[in-house]
Amino acid sequence: MSLSDDLYRETILDHYHQPRNHGTIETPTAQIEGVNPLCGDELTLYLKVSDQGKIDDVKLTAHGCSINTASGSMMSEAVLGQSVERAREIIESFKEMMLTKGETAELEGDLEDLEALRGVKKYPVRIKCALLPWNTLLEGLDTVNGARENNT
Ligand code: ZN
Repeated sequence: MSLSDDLYRETILDHYHQPRNHGTIETPTAQIEGVNPLCGDELTLYLKVSDQGKIDDVKLTAHGCSINTASGSMMSEAVLGQSVERAREIIESFKEMMLTKGETAELEGDLEDLEALRGVKKYPVRIKCALLPWNTLLEGLDTVNGARENNT
């Protein structure tokens, strides 16, 4: 076990025990449920997106395993305050890291924390746990886009 493995595990446990942006939004722009039947993970994601396409607020309630909860918590931190376009890029980078066999470029800057989840790749069954919040967010952003197009 290397030092970085320890650090990564600590980061995951920290987010699991104190999930960031936990809760609900009263009048969300989008509210999406995500389920991973393989593990029993369930979450509800709430999004508040401004007319300018900025993610003003993101909240989630998760009933899942530690990987699922930690991943959702880290995701909420990564996309809060970002534009929808940037959020899509972040989702893409994360999914690339988790789904590419072999090495991918390290996530840097404000995405550095997400590196903690890279180790999950060693456990293929848990990859779905880590991806669930991100796929749910993607669905949410599509919903928001659809709603905005209908308004114009
Ligand atoms: Zn799980």
